[in-house]
Parts: sequence; structure tokens; C-alpha cells
Amino acid sequence: MRIDILTLFPEMCERVLDESMIGRARRNGLIEVNCHNIRDYTDDKHRRVDDMPYGGGQGMLMKPEPIAACFEAVARQCTSRPLLIYLSPKGEVFHQRMARELLTHENICLLCGHYEGIDQRVIDSLVDREISVGDYVLTGGELPALIVTDAVCRMVPGVLAEDACFEEESHYDGLLEHPQYTRPPEWNGLRVPEELLSGHHARIAAWKRRMSLAQTAHCRPDLLAAADLTEDERRQVGEKDG
Ligand code: SAM
Repeated sequence: MRIDILTLFPEMCERVLDESMIGRARRNGLIEVNCHNIRDYTDDKHRRVDDMPYGGGQGMLMKPEPIAACFEAVARQCTSRPLLIYLSPKGEVFHQRMARELLTHENICLLCGHYEGIDQRVIDSLVDREISVGDYVLTGGELPALIVTDAVCRMVPGVLAEDACFEEESHYDGLLEHPQYTRPPEWNGLRVPEELLSGHHARIAAWKRRMSLAQTAHCRPDLLAAADLTEDERRQVGEKDG
């Protein structure tokens, strides 16, 4: 999988992408993530990337030409046209299913806005999808682009030690993960649940499923309607809710 981040702050992204599991996966060639400086695609001597919005208003807007030139240069390097995603507070709110869907694309380009955002004509003519990381406004699209990159790349086979690492996590199957414990078996008078210490696989699996349902019903009951539950589980959760 190849991800290209179009930004005014490539160093900010590189610093994060160099670290930990994503950094290792990049170095091992499991994923390709490139950061491009949109300012390198200006053609005036001041390397200007922003201008005042027509009609007035606060702040500056990113100009269309450098963004388009940057995207076209990246697209020429790819085997197929990349899906161009603009990170925007107006977009569809990002979630795990969307991350799984993005994983099916060979190339994606993440466009980071700054200042007041970008000229609407770029969105109308080039952008395929707008994604938000939540209903709040950040100073730039870099953190959202890094969130999307991380969420997608950790599901590329080989990036995590085992695929089960993400398949058993919150949101993958529509539920939240069960609580987790490590050594010592007792800490500050609090014991690890007996089921987890039993060594009995079926009992442990049943406990994990039960707790995953309980955790979801408690913290995010809105997720239950779309989750894949048996009739029995639906009754259990309904009983608890009621
Ligand atoms: N004027 C814009 C508005 O009101 O919708 C906000 C612009 S924001 C200050 C600057 C840039 O940060 C945006 O172009 C976008 O790329 C990024 N951004 C801010 N909040 C975001 C969010 N919740 N999700 C994704 N990107 C966001």
C-alpha cells in the first residue's frame, strides 16, 4: 500500500511516521508513505501557497494551483490514479470500517489543509472524499492525516505481529474490546478475574465475549444496533440495558 501526504509541514509528519511500528513497517518496505511539500509546487519567487478569500472573511486560504500541481506530480508516480482524500472538519467522520475500506486502495493521497482551508475548486474538481476526525476544528490536516495513515497501515499484513492484534480490538467487529490485565495477578487489593487465570480456553473466550458486550453496552450503547450479535446476546444486552 502507498500513501502520499500533501502538506505544508512534511517534517511534522515525517517525525511521527519515523517512529514505532509505522516507522519499522516503512523501513521494512511493508508500506510506502511519502510526504510532499505543497510549497515545492509553487511557481512564483515568493513560493506563495495562500491568498485572501474572495468576499472577505478571516484568515487566508490555500491556493488551488500548487495543490493541483503537487497531486498531479504524485499521481504520475503511481500505477493508478490515487484516491484523493481531503482532511476536513466538514467531512464524513472517520471510523474503523472506513479505515478497512481505504485499505483496499492501492494508492491514497491525503491532502492537509491549513489556515482557513483550501479553495473549493480543488474539492469540486480533484477531491474524491472528505474525511473528518471529529466534530472540532484543528489548525491543520496533518494530525488527521497521521491518524488515518496509522489506522489504515496497522492493518497491512505484517505491520503488527499478528492480524489477530487488530481483529480482536475495539471497533473491528463493531464492539468494544473486553478489559485487559497483566501481571501481577493481584494489585492494590484488586484481583485479575478468575476466568483469565483459569487457563481454560473456552471459559476465557466466553468471558471475553461477555465483557466485550457489557463494555459496549456500558460505554457505547449506540454501537449495539449495528453489531453482529446472536439472538441470545441481543437479549442479554437488552436485559442489561433495560
Ligand atoms: N475554515 C474551515 C471550516 O470552518 O470548516 C476550518 C479550517 S481548519 C482551521 C484548517 C485545516 O485543518 C482544514 O483545512 C483541514 O485540513 C484541517 N482540519 C481541521 N479540523 C479538522 C478535522 N476535524 N478533521 C479533519 N481535518 C481537519
